[in-house]
Amino acid sequence: MEIKKVGVLGCGLMGSGIAQVAASAGFVTVVKEVSPEFLEKGFKGVEKSLAKFTEKGTITAKQQKETRDRLSGTTSVQDLADCDIVIEAIVENLDEKRRTFGELDSICKPETIFASNTSSISITEMMTATSAARQQRFIGLHFFNPVPLMKLVEVVRTILTDESVYEIAVDFGKRLGKVPVRAGDKSGFIVNRLLVPYLLDAIRALEEGVGSIVDIDNAMKLGCGYPMGPFTLGDFVGLDTTYYIAEIMFNEFREKRFAPPPLLKRMVLAGLYGRKSGRGFYDYSNDSKNPTPMNLV
Ligand code: NAD
Repeated sequence: MEIKKVGVLGCGLMGSGIAQVAASAGFVTVVKEVSPEFLEKGFKGVEKSLAKFTEKGTITAKQQKETRDRLSGTTSVQDLADCDIVIEAIVENLDEKRRTFGELDSICKPETIFASNTSSISITEMMTATSAARQQRFIGLHFFNPVPLMKLVEVVRTILTDESVYEIAVDFGKRLGKVPVRAGDKSGFIVNRLLVPYLLDAIRALEEGVGSIVDIDNAMKLGCGYPMGPFTLGDFVGLDTTYYIAEIMFNEFREKRFAPPPLLKRMVLAGLYGRKSGRGFYDYSNDSKNPTPMNLV
């Protein structure tokens, strides 16, 4: 089986990026959204990104046009029926994902591979919303933000994924210009399994008075050569998202290292989500970045 036509569910931050890399790699790509407004917003982002690549000389104006021409949008799930692979990038909500995959199962051809871009939900839990035959053609394809720039894709298999389907998915990742890594269906896969405890530990260090926000960030940046410190990264990812992922991983593994520290929970309760809400470990008001004053005792 050869992948020729790609379906993408959701044209948000991740879905639009996935659609862009699929169309750039030469695949006919159709994106399904809940409304034309969401499609328009997502495609505007794609056009802006492609224009930047052309400006920099990474792609030619001809390639830019051809890529855009291979992309189409729809609000009808029926238009995904003949796709060879459908990649889901809708909201991180298990019920919504199960409902969507269940519906898709009765619409898509039997050969269609189903993939989810989830960061933390178990692939197996989504897979069981589909028929026994489809369950063997169900994988995780976990891309990283921003998708057109980040080279990694985690290719996740469940205990039931067919070996040949998995190899097609690994090869598909390469054809998208990514470096695929193989991962089992354990919460967090590889990257979040290692990254989330690190981010949580940085918060515990702050709670325990090991150092200030700025000093812990600088220590990890300059001492370990990381491109940014844990608090800058946490604010970038979103503290609500980090909290949500940590809860799911803690429930899966029941290990303390995945437990969200009280300070993280309180920051989320107080609406300090990071960059997206204007305040997290840092305050981003007036285009600046200063540590948020917090009473830690
Ligand atoms: P987002 O909120 O930017 O986009 C989600 C989009 O899905 C929205 O535009 C929404 O209208 C649309 N949608 C909702 N239900 C739909 C449906 N039934 N059919 C079609 N479209 C639907 O979210 P995002 O950040 O792009 O995240 C999407 C997925 O990718 C989540 O599972 C998330 O965990 C995962 N993910 C996110 C990141 C990240 O850094 N944001 C990284 C890796 C993976």
